[in-house]
Amino acid sequence: MKIAVIGAGAAGLAALRHCTSDIYNIEVICYEREDQVGGTWIYREEHGMDQYGLPMHTSMYKNLRANLPKEVMGFPDYPIPDVPENYLHRTQILDFLNSYCDHFKLRQYIKLSHHVELIKPMKTHRKWTVRVKDLPKNSVTVELFDAVMVCNGHFSDPNIPEIKGQDIFQGQQMHSHDYRIAEIFNGKTVVVFGAGPSGYDLAIDISKTAKLVYFSHHMQNVIGTVFSDNVIQKPDVLELFEHSVRFNDDTIASADVMFYCTGYKYSFPFLDETCGIRVDSNMVTPLWKHIVSIENPTLAFIGLPTRVCAFHLSDLQVRFVLQFWSGRKDFLPKQDMLREENEEFKTLAKKGILKRHFHVFNERQRFYADDLAKTAEIVPLAPVIINIYNECYMQFLKDLINYRNSRYKIIDDYNFIRY
Ligand SMILES: Cc1cc2nc3c(=O)[nH]c(=O)nc-3n(C[C@H](O)[C@H](O)[C@H](O)COP(=O)(O)OP(=O)(O)OC[C@H]3O[C@@H](n4cnc5c(N)ncnc54)[C@H](O)[C@@H]3O)c2cc1C
Repeated sequence: MKIAVIGAGAAGLAALRHCTSDIYNIEVICYEREDQVGGTWIYREEHGMDQYGLPMHTSMYKNLRANLPKEVMGFPDYPIPDVPENYLHRTQILDFLNSYCDHFKLRQYIKLSHHVELIKPMKTHRKWTVRVKDLPKNSVTVELFDAVMVCNGHFSDPNIPEIKGQDIFQGQQMHSHDYRIAEIFNGKTVVVFGAGPSGYDLAIDISKTAKLVYFSHHMQNVIGTVFSDNVIQKPDVLELFEHSVRFNDDTIASADVMFYCTGYKYSFPFLDETCGIRVDSNMVTPLWKHIVSIENPTLAFIGLPTRVCAFHLSDLQVRFVLQFWSGRKDFLPKQDMLREENEEFKTLAKKGILKRHFHVFNERQRFYADDLAKTAEIVPLAPVIINIYNECYMQFLKDLINYRNSRYKIIDDYNFIRY
């Protein structure tokens, strides 16, 4: 079997690691548009377009430290070594991904600076055509594969909500995708809009240089955190004027910058429409278990779920897919896969979970991981990893400023201590 892996971030490296293991007889090529591995953990000072005119992939900023402890951020068969820091700096995570790549001798399978432009199923041969551009050489080739694992990341295409007055606001408007250093906000009044994991961290990072930060969000459960004096929590922004904003409590404040920490859109610009995948209100569909294309099951997506132990879960998803592609397990009939996806969608809808949050897991992570392992009969994700994730999420909600001071120690597959 010949497999294409698109992207050499954490998910793509996990895909390569298992495709090249002795268990399978797989020929694999990984295409990576950057000139190095590591995906979103590669820091670039520039933003906007890269030297080849492609939109910059990374959303990494200079001061970023991981928001999960190192015990959760390794791979099941390659944990992060016992370094003194508990929550690692971005450079340490990038080093770790490089050492994973070297440990499993993965570099030989990776074509760097190769941008995948088009993926299309062949009508007759049950194969995939993959059109790739060698960026430095500016030359295009087309190669055939039996299966494709899409590992292109999902924190690159900014989501900017429409707000009344965006067109008349005279200050700066930017998305967190383009944020690199806090100094650009020196002395400014910045409205940080949105309270995903980036919003919290960025409100704090920016407050070191900005004159004033309005942290605008509707998350009730984090209001307890004591921020520095120049951070004021506010409800959602309703409207922008030339030099000010109006919040949902009807207060108006002057602002120099409207800073959108409003997340990202799933985006697969290289998938031909005949691949049978669409992104509907940020739900990638139709997919079996958030991974397998139901229309074309030799197309798989690794790493779509968010608010999860990303490296561990990507590893599990790869092992799941390979059980089926290698013939050890059989896919369900198409109608059954469609029914499963629909049932999950309806169950979530009944709980009030919006379609655009279909791949946002949090507490669903444990059930999902167990289900994958059971269905494919593979080694499950150790419960202690999810236990630590859940504990650290609770600490995060309690105290955004200090949660990274906690340390964790794994005792066994189920238990850990926090100290
Ligand atoms: C600012 C920020 C902070 C984060 N912090 C954490 C954290 O603390 N802990 C955590 O667990 N997770 C964190 N994440 C989530 C992080 O994205 C995942 O942990 C993980 O790194 C995702 O890996 P990935 O391989 O799925 O995607 P990516 O790392 O994005 O890798 C995708 C790769 O695909 C390549 N690619 C894309 N399109 C093409 C194409 N057409 N052709 C060829 N190559 C292509 C890209 O260049 C990239 O290298 C953070 C994300 C961001 C943006």
